[in-house]
Amino acid sequence: MANKMEHFKTEIREYRCACGNGNYTFKWHTYRDNYFSEDVISQKEIECPVCKETHYIQDYSLVPKAVSDKTSEASNAVKDLCQIIKDYALEHYREPMFKYISSIPATRWHSLWHIGSPAIGTFRKDINATNGKEATFNRHLSGSYESTIYRIMVTLEKCNIEDLKLANWNDDLQVLIQKRNEVKELENGYLYKGQLLRDYTSYQDPKLS
Ligand SMILES: [Zn+2]
Repeated sequence: MANKMEHFKTEIREYRCACGNGNYTFKWHTYRDNYFSEDVISQKEIECPVCKETHYIQDYSLVPKAVSDKTSEASNAVKDLCQIIKDYALEHYREPMFKYISSIPATRWHSLWHIGSPAIGTFRKDINATNGKEATFNRHLSGSYESTIYRIMVTLEKCNIEDLKLANWNDDLQVLIQKRNEVKELENGYLYKGQLLRDYTSYQDPKLS
């Protein structure tokens, strides 16, 4: 028989919105089954019709849509260039990169790539598994983040590979990152944290209300 999750409680926090005439809320719906398993589903919503048009919720604050869109644009520009650099670098230099990185001790690989997680013990276990080096190499280059590009560039440097195209892209990337950070900083100044109006728990199933 299927194990049915039933609504247990909903915790609700209501904040005053930016225009001052309404609010925005956070809800955490807790569902439980007979075996003490719990699921929490969170929900957030700007209930003020005016602020709903002009703002988004970010963490516990409201941020003007125009400002948030600028930040997204700047973040996407960084991500897109990271993807281009990664695709190019792996297409041209995957082999020497892997050859170098898989030949150095685990601790050096771990620190050269600034791998925060997993810790060195697990990392070493991972690379010692069957095809572990290959899997580890792929896993830690799988995203298209700044950290991925850093790993690529530092490995190419160790391989003495100089590629003008990559160097120029990397310079461009640093400019885009700087710009993204500035826009992000600016956005922080626009965050509106509303006054907490109500903080309560409801036992009414939201589907029934
Ligand atoms: Zn409002």
